[in-house]
Order: sequence, then C-alpha cells, then structure tokens
Amino acid sequence: MLNQLTISELTARLATRQCSAREAMQACLERVARVDGRVKAFLSYDAADALARAEAADKAIAAGANFKQRPLLGVPIAVKDVLCVKNHPCNCGSKILDKFISPYDATVIERLKAAGAIVFGRLNMDEFAMGSSTENSAFFTTLNPWDTTRIPGGSSGGSAAAVAADEAIATLGSDTGGSIRQPAALCGVVGLKPTYGRVSRYGLVAFASSLDQVGPFTKDVRDAATMLGVISGLDPRDSTSVPEPVPNYAAALNGGIKGVKLGLPREYMIGGLDAEVKLAVDSAVQQLQKLGAQLMEISLPHTDYAGATYYIIAPAEASANLARFDGIRYGLRVDGAGPIELYGNTRGAGFGAEVKRRIILGTYVLSSGYYDAYYLRAQKVRTLIRQDFLKAFEKVDAIVTPTTPTAAFKAGEKSGDPLEMYLSDIFTVAANVAGICGISVPCGFTRSPRLPIGLQLLGKPFGEETILQIAHAYEQNTGWHKEKPPLP
Ligand code: GLN
Repeated sequence: MLNQLTISELTARLATRQCSAREAMQACLERVARVDGRVKAFLSYDAADALARAEAADKAIAAGANFKQRPLLGVPIAVKDVLCVKNHPCNCGSKILDKFISPYDATVIERLKAAGAIVFGRLNMDEFAMGSSTENSAFFTTLNPWDTTRIPGGSSGGSAAAVAADEAIATLGSDTGGSIRQPAALCGVVGLKPTYGRVSRYGLVAFASSLDQVGPFTKDVRDAATMLGVISGLDPRDSTSVPEPVPNYAAALNGGIKGVKLGLPREYMIGGLDAEVKLAVDSAVQQLQKLGAQLMEISLPHTDYAGATYYIIAPAEASANLARFDGIRYGLRVDGAGPIELYGNTRGAGFGAEVKRRIILGTYVLSSGYYDAYYLRAQKVRTLIRQDFLKAFEKVDAIVTPTTPTAAFKAGEKSGDPLEMYLSDIFTVAANVAGICGISVPCGFTRSPRLPIGLQLLGKPFGEETILQIAHAYEQNTGWHKEKPPLP
C-alpha cells in the first residue's frame, strides 16, 4: 500500500514509474477516509486540490524532473494547523481563528512545494500549541493510533498520529518545549526539533518566539534528514534564522558511530520515570554501546530548573504574541460597546482555558514589580541551562535520555491538572530553553497495553548531522520503527 511507504521508498517508485503521484495521494486520502474517524488527526483537507497537485507532479515526472533537485516530488505531506498555507485555513486549533484563511505560504511550506511535495490537510493540535495531549484543541481530541482510548501527545498530536496511522507520508509540526519529540515518542514515529535558527519561523503562528522551531515527523531517520534538508536555511524574512550552510543531512547518515561519545545525564534518571520506559532506554543505550559508541556519565546541574524557566518564558512571550488576536484584524469578532469591550468579548469567547491561563501567567511575570523576580531571573537561569549543555558538549557528541517519563496516557487522565500535564515535557523543555537540537526515535514498547517508547538524542547547536547519524545507526540495528499500530 503506497500510503505506508517512506519518502525514500515512494520517490524511488515514482522515479522508476512503478506508481504515480496521483495513486500515492489517492492511497493517503483513502486511508484518511478509512481510519481518521477513529484517530481524528485531520481538522480538514481538500481532496480535489491534493489530487490536482498530484497530477501536476506526475506531469513534472513525465517531463523528466530531477529527484535530486526536488527530493519530495509527488510526496503527500500534511502540516500542523499552525503553519500558513496560502488559501487554506489556519486555525491553530483555536476558535479565535475560526474561518481564518492564510493569505500566504510559510517559508517552510514554500520550500516543501519547491521540493515537489503535495501539501495537503490541516493537522490537529493543542490550541496555539499549548499542551501535551491535543486535548486543548478547540475542535476535538486526536487519539493515539496504538490505543484510541489514549492521547497521541501534543501539541503536534495530529502530526504524529497521521504519520503513525499512515495517513500521510510525512508531516510537519512545531516544537516550543517538546511538541515534536513528545508526540513522536508516544506515537512511535521519528520527530526532529532543529536547532533554534536552523529553520525559518516565517508563517509559523508564534507561540514563544525565542523557543519555537518547525520540524518533521517521519517514518524513519532517513526521511527526517531529507525533510530537514528541504526546510532548513537562512530566510531574510526571519531575522533569527542563521546563515549556517545546510549540510547534505541524508549523506551524513552512512558513517558508523564507532567512537562517538554519548553523555548520560545523571539528573535525568528521576523518580517519576516509568519502569518500562527506563528498561527500554537502558537497552537502547546498551545497543548504542554495542555499535561502538562510548558512554560517559555527565551532569547538567541546572536541569531541575528547566521546567520552571520554560513556564515563565513561554507564557511571557505568548502573552505578547497573542495580543494581536483582538477581534480587529484576524478571525473571530464579538462586538461590544467600544473597543475595550470588543477586545474583551472577542478574547473571552475565542480563547480556551489553557490559553487564557498562559496569557494571565505571562502578563503577570512581565508586569512591573514582578518582572525582575520572575522574567529577568528566568532569563538568567536560561543562560545557565545553555551553559550546562555547551559544557557537556565539550566532552560528548550527543546526550541520550528518555523522550518522555511515561508512555501515552489515557484521554482525560491529566486534563484536569495543568501541572501534571506540564510534567510530561520534563525531558524535552531544556533543549528549547538552551536552543539546541533533538530527535526522538522509537526504542521499544510497553508490554500491556502495547505502547511505543521514545529515545531522545540531544545535539550541539547545528549538530543535527550527528544526532541523525546516531539515530540512524540505532534504527538500522533495531527495527522498532517498522512496527505498525493495530488499526483496521
Ligand atoms: N507542552 C508544552 C507546552 O504546553 C510544549 C508545547 C510546545 O512545544 N508547543 O507549553
């Protein structure tokens, strides 16, 4: 079935005319029609537009298009509802952007299209990317393809579930504190958060601008390398994107990992870590050692403060970024007597509870009198956390941790307790605070119920090649990524 293929498998078939892009697109659409009633990864999709684009890709292939120059030619790719795709809705999982249509393409979308991808469908997410389960979506909750009584993780839950359920060949999500790696782990797929500045944020609706990055969800590590190569690079429209040259990530995969130094941070072996997750991660570490990696215990002494730091900085930036949704320029408007009442009515009706909580929290930590005690102090601790990592990377090439403390939890289990929900990002937030890169790869399953577990590899700033190479070596020698969820 074409929808089950990876990017590299599908493009190999397209290049040799064993199938057409139209057939591949059709296979994904049929899969969505068959399983998305249960998984609920998609908020919307436009089948006619997708098929027309697939036909255009087939014409390009017939005219002899070069797959080296257009590595995603004819590949169906769906995106998180936080990325602008021209003439398509962009709701950010929120009622406040209900009926909003993007007037332009995000840079990453432009790059996907230039590489030949067929961008189709909007994937569900926690409202404005705030959450870890998709339960904060204003529309509905996405469910985990491995067990549809459980959440897929978040905030890019739809992006992870769609790949796990073979509804798309690959997807894009965004990661502010773990929103790519955490759902990738819980759904048993590969998720990559690039270094801050590697990928343009132009056309990504901002949550916390100093933490946000766009990245891919894929079925294997090679595809993650391909996607990263396409979306990376300097963009004059995002002043935080960097001119660092974009390496050929896929070419870097082939070298082995003999002599690679891996750091095991002692602060990550915490009490709340589930026994089965620990077992799977420990045996992945042993496997990496067998493949020639050299293990070293390291210390990241400010780890304990990463969560608190994140939950000051992210809401502070969110409170400023979300001020633009006021009923005047975008989406929903609820009238009132005068502008102040209109703002209040619109924001009161348009935002959900978690978004309101973050705006209130963020406004508080930025307010005069509290700014120094909270925001400024968090910025200082942020520097210490980054220094911990940079110091560790003087000794090691990458750091290994579990991606999440537990496997997927039940829908409803944590939705009433924001703090519990925040703790599910405990292993992922530090990478965003420090601005480094990270990847999650499948590394096993819990026994009963059978749920995926993720291994996280953290790399130096712009060290994506290294973590991709390690992840690839691990994947090639294990095969967890080939397992499929029990959907009809
Ligand atoms: N779960 C975290 C939060 O709610 C991270 C979200 C994200 O990475 N977008 O803030």
